[in-house]
Amino acid sequence: MQAYKNFKLIDVKNEKVISDAILIIEDGKFKRVGSNFDVPDDAEVCDLEGQTVIPGIIDAHIHSLSDASNDPHQQRENENDALTVIKAEHALQKALKAGITYVRDLGGCNYYDLGLREAEKKGFLKGPRMQVAGKLITMTGGHGYRMGREADGIGDVRKAAREQLKAGVDVVKIMATGGVMTEGVEPGSPQLSLKEMRAAVEEAHKAGKKTASHAQGTIGIQNAIKAGIDSIEHGIFLDKKTVEMMIEKGTFLVATLVAPYWIVEYGVENGIPAYAVEKAKKVINSHHASFKLAQQSGVKIAMGTDAGTPFNKHGKNTYELKLMVKAGMSPMKAIKASTLGGAELLGIKEEYGSIEEGKYADMVVIKGDPHENIEDIFEVVAVYKSGEKVM
Ligand SMILES: [Zn+2]
Repeated sequence: MQAYKNFKLIDVKNEKVISDAILIIEDGKFKRVGSNFDVPDDAEVCDLEGQTVIPGIIDAHIHSLSDASNDPHQQRENENDALTVIKAEHALQKALKAGITYVRDLGGCNYYDLGLREAEKKGFLKGPRMQVAGKLITMTGGHGYRMGREADGIGDVRKAAREQLKAGVDVVKIMATGGVMTEGVEPGSPQLSLKEMRAAVEEAHKAGKKTASHAQGTIGIQNAIKAGIDSIEHGIFLDKKTVEMMIEKGTFLVATLVAPYWIVEYGVENGIPAYAVEKAKKVINSHHASFKLAQQSGVKIAMGTDAGTPFNKHGKNTYELKLMVKAGMSPMKAIKASTLGGAELLGIKEEYGSIEEGKYADMVVIKGDPHENIEDIFEVVAVYKSGEKVM
């Protein structure tokens, strides 16, 4: 049994801070959380010296097998597969070091993501816990086709979803619109149809699995919501009507504000393909405005980064929180979206996402107080998974 004392605890569920907190961990789970109680005599006591503890951070959108180089498509296609996988292992370690204890990988290649998930579970890989999507499902020539499963028509999309479920994915990812990182497709234009997406969602939900949709343009986003999707990824062109639909259906938004941000920051001068830079520049203002509208209107938000896209480096994941706050979210709400929000979206909130009795003791010790100054989120002192210090 371990006891931690003398720290600030961020209670994301009640959106409050417990000062002078005490935390008891036993058998990898939180046993008692609060303040003003006696620490059991047999506990091993650790004084956290005024630091802050937040729940383990959940990044709901990464690509562990993309290396955040200037052109990750070229990277994956040209390098040796063993190298790609070992680089992914390093990427996941860096994320863990930044306080990310759970990730959702939304599109790998050749199902290596399933192997990484297994490696983490079996203790071969020191990284965040993982949910994975296997191959994303896209129309022929659609966004992400170079890494995904192309499918056309209701029957074929249904089959593609069943293939992913057979392989053992946790979430089925479908492409509702074009995007930034595929040459020749427009972020605003719809791709898979409502009926095609409905077939994939039906199959995933029948199997008790979640669905996520890359969706940037308004019509495509609406199609995905109508199809019953669990999360809209990116959500660049949201309007009032679309936001209302999301609230009504309980659809999550995972904005990944950092993805176009880094593309615009680094630009063609750092070797990012010109088509990607141009498209990112075109959408970046709408992206921020859409996030602002969604969060102010009360859409459910989970934090995700799209880490692995150009210069969107693994380990820099929490930069997303800084942008969320810059777009008008309170630091407390940004931390909540990055913990409990992600846990709800991933369907794991009974066991993860907050520091509550009975949940797995995944937590991050931070120097400073990110609820007062969001930049303190970068000051990670220690990371715990199931009560064990892993970083
Ligand atoms: Zn992505």
